[in-house]
Order: sequence, then structure tokens, then C-alpha cells
Amino acid sequence: MATIEHWIDGAGTRGVSTRRAPVFQPATGRRQHDVLLASPQDVDAAVRAAAAAFARWSQASLSQRATVLFAFRELVNASAQQLAEIVSDEHGKVLSDAAGEVQRGLEVIEFACGIPQLLKGSYSDQASAGVDVFGFREPLGVVAGITPFNFPAMVPMWMHPIAIACGNTFVLKPSERDPSSAGFVARLWQEAGLPDGVFNVVHGDKVAVDAILDHPGVAAVSFVGSTPIARYIHQRATVMGKRVQALGGAKNHAVVLPDADPSFVAEHLAASAFGSAGERCMAISAAVVVGPSDRLVEAVAARAGQIRVGPGRDPASEMGPVITAAAKERIENLITAGERQGATVAADGRGLKIPGYEDGFFVGPTVLDHVRREMDVYTEEIFGPVLSIVRASDVDTAIELVNGNPYGNGAAVFTDSGAAARRFQRGVHVGMIGVNVPIPVPMAYYSFGGWKDSLFGQSPIYGPDGVAFYTRAKVVTQRWPAVSSDSAASLHFPTAR
Ligand code: NAD
Repeated sequence: MATIEHWIDGAGTRGVSTRRAPVFQPATGRRQHDVLLASPQDVDAAVRAAAAAFARWSQASLSQRATVLFAFRELVNASAQQLAEIVSDEHGKVLSDAAGEVQRGLEVIEFACGIPQLLKGSYSDQASAGVDVFGFREPLGVVAGITPFNFPAMVPMWMHPIAIACGNTFVLKPSERDPSSAGFVARLWQEAGLPDGVFNVVHGDKVAVDAILDHPGVAAVSFVGSTPIARYIHQRATVMGKRVQALGGAKNHAVVLPDADPSFVAEHLAASAFGSAGERCMAISAAVVVGPSDRLVEAVAARAGQIRVGPGRDPASEMGPVITAAAKERIENLITAGERQGATVAADGRGLKIPGYEDGFFVGPTVLDHVRREMDVYTEEIFGPVLSIVRASDVDTAIELVNGNPYGNGAAVFTDSGAAARRFQRGVHVGMIGVNVPIPVPMAYYSFGGWKDSLFGQSPIYGPDGVAFYTRAKVVTQRWPAVSSDSAASLHFPTAR
């Protein structure tokens, strides 16, 4: 059984900690590797390597950095299938879905290839007589990324290509549940010509995370994961004086208005609720149906029953297992709680056994109807293939329901009415909105971020906000007395007049 090592200063290393965690193959339920769990000394070694590399990398020219980014883009593109296989084996998602994740990560790399353009500053000629003013941005130093299990390749790529393109050095602490893609990507960075120490990986759990949060050598922390941990990361790292962006969990609603085509809606609801076994922070987990809904519920439940559930490597599978045995148990318990609290089980994924994969962590697509806002299935982020149907009398009640939820990541509306869609997009308190688009993940040249308990700190991730997060501004006001017509000094506060 392989042991997954850290990657520090351009080489694999075991570090000093002897702690390990098992990494399972969710389709078979078998332990496939162990991953090392870093000690604070291991984190310190990575931060020191990154700090040493920063001295040179922060001085690399824009074209040198862009050259490495372009080479990295080519290598990730050429290795996309291999990366998708690594993701599928450890996460469980089907290969086509894993390939989609790699593609969305690649798009962020492509955005970062434009770093010379993205870092163009501003210049005001003759702001005062003989005085020019200009602004530019500089990297922060060593920045860290702490990432969740559900997108082990893409979410780190929301961070490191932009951070590195901006001239920072990076320490990644990936999820210990599917850690292998991080080391694979580290080798691609090296092959692309990135100097050793610029990109480092430390594997681990809370011990490693706390060591990152407390390390004085880390200037900024990007986190993506569940809300309780996001809140904790934001608080602890902020107290330590770091810049922090911490993206949390979600409960994404789709509001279905009576004029929407039920078969179109049923297809898209099923795809967004059950794709990746519901383990997406932008999955639709609650559908709020306005007006008559029986036909729609029947259509979604029928589609749920047709979804081919199986191992991610089988091209016939549309949906894979969930991440761990504990996740399977938790999801099934929540379905049972929903039933006990009065929901109707329109499609039941509990107790699913896949022939040949009896020990896999499979939960089938599940539809719960007549869900009410006080039920556990509604208040909890289930993070599994469970769609709750809530019924609402009118669009304002539906918007009020969305806004009553503590999360504010994504929301979608299905309608044929532009006026209703506009009312929805202006009325909901969430960061990312889809109109007849159930998973509105912004393109790489926008930024990704929710509101309320889905994002702590000021900054959304990737896109222009990513560049701003990983840099800080300088404004220079300059005068060259020899060419200035008026260089007399005065004790009053300087003005441009
Ligand atoms: P998680 O919060 O359990 O773990 C995320 C990271 O935090 C991991 O690297 C983990 O090792 C670390 N961690 C876990 N417990 C910790 C603790 N007590 N102290 C310090 N660090 C700790 O999340 P997960 O289960 O890996 O991922 C699923 C969650 O991530 C869901 O809630 C999902 O909505 C969310 N998510 C959000 C987004 C977004 O963009 N908002 C994207 C993907 C996933």
C-alpha cells in the first residue's frame, strides 16, 4: 500500500510526523493508500521553503511567470485524463464528471496565463504640476490553501495558479480524504519550470491546518470547505493578522415557477441534485415549487430512479458513491429523519447495493416531497444525492424562503418570464444566480463567492477578486525636481492644485 507523501521544496518527503490516515476507494470501500498527516514541524519546513523561494519568484518578470503558466497549462491539459482518473478513484465521482472538474480548473490556469494584462497598473500623468501618480500591485509572500474533498483538483486550482502568477509562493493543504491529485499537480508545476519551493503540499488534518493558521510566515489563507470550519479559519487566521478568504457550505435552492417546462426542469433538477452524488457546493438540494407540483415531483422521482449508479470508472455509471462510510450513514439517517418528520419519500436511495461493489459507499438518488423548513433535511447541508421539494404559494414566499436560509451560495430560478427572473435575481440574498441554469458556477474571468454563511472575509475566489486577494496595492506619487516647474516645499497638507 502506497503512502502519500508531502511535497516540499521540489521533492517528495515523509517529514517528521509518524501519524497517518487511511484513504479509501469509495466504490469498493477498500483502503487504497495511507496519507501522512503533517506535524507543525512539517508545516514549518514547507513555509520556510516557500519563504526562501519567494525571494526569487517575486522578482521573476511577468513574462517569465507567464511562460511557466503557459507550460503548466499545456501539461495539465495533456494529463487531464490521468488527473481525472486519480480524482475518480479517491473521490468516487464518475470519470466524465472528474474530467469536467479538471476542465474548470484548467480555465482558471488559462485566466492566470494573462497575468501581465491582469497586473497592469494605473497611471495619472501630471496629477499636479510636475507630479505623476501611479499604482501597482505586489505579491503578499507565502500564501496557503486549505481545500475540501469534493473537488480535489479544481478547488486548489481556484487558488494556486493565480497566487503563483501574482508572484506569491504557495503551501497547499489538500483534503486528507482524496489527497493524491495534489502531488501529481506538484510534479506538473515542476515540469513546467516552476522553481522548487514555489508550490508545496503538506498533507494533514486539524494539526496541520492550525499550524498554517498560526504560522507567522504565512501572509494569507484561502479556505474552501464546510461552514463551521470556514468560520473557525476566518476567525483564527484573522486574529493572527492574515488576509483570509473562507468559503463555506451551502443549501442551494431552485425556485420553479408555474410557467417553466416540467420535463426540462425535472431533467435539470435531477442533474444538479444527483450529479457527483450531490457532493457539490453548488448542487441544488432544495427545489421550491410554486403552484401545482405533483407532475414535476413525479417526473423528478422517475428520473431519479433511472440514474445508473455505479463505480466512477465504469463508463456506464452516471453517479458514483459518496466519499466515506460515515457520509453514507449520515445521509441515510437524514433521509430517515425527514421521513419521520413528515416528508414523503418519492424516490428512496437508502440501502442501495451495487452488484460486485457491495462494500462501496453508495446512496441512491433520493427525492423527499412535502419538506418543511423546520425539518432536519432542510436545515442541514446534506451533501449527498437528496433533493428536498418544498411547496410555496407564490414567488414572494419562495424568495423569502431562500432568504431565510443562513447560506447564500447559489440559487436558480426556472421560468419563461423575464420579469419574474429579474425580480428573483434582484430579490435573493445569494452570490451566484442561475436563470434556467441550475449550477451557475461563474466562469474563470468572473469570481466565485457566496453571501452570508457561505463566505467569511471580504473576498470571493479566483477571477479579478483572486488577483486582488493575492496582491496588495502601492500608489506612488513622484516628482523629479529638475523637470518640475514648481518644486517649492510647503508645510500645508499637499493638494494637487
Ligand atoms: P471540511 O470543512 O470538513 O474540510 C475542509 C478542509 O478543512 C480539509 O482540508 C480538512 O482537512 C480541514 N479541516 C476539517 N476539519 C477541520 C478542523 N476541525 N480544523 C481545521 N481544519 C479542518 O469540508 P469537506 O467535508 O472536505 O468538504 C465539503 C464541504 O465543503 C461542504 O460543506 C461544501 O459545501 C463545502 N464546499 C464549499 C465550496 C464553496 O465554494 N463555497 C466549494 C466546495 C466545497
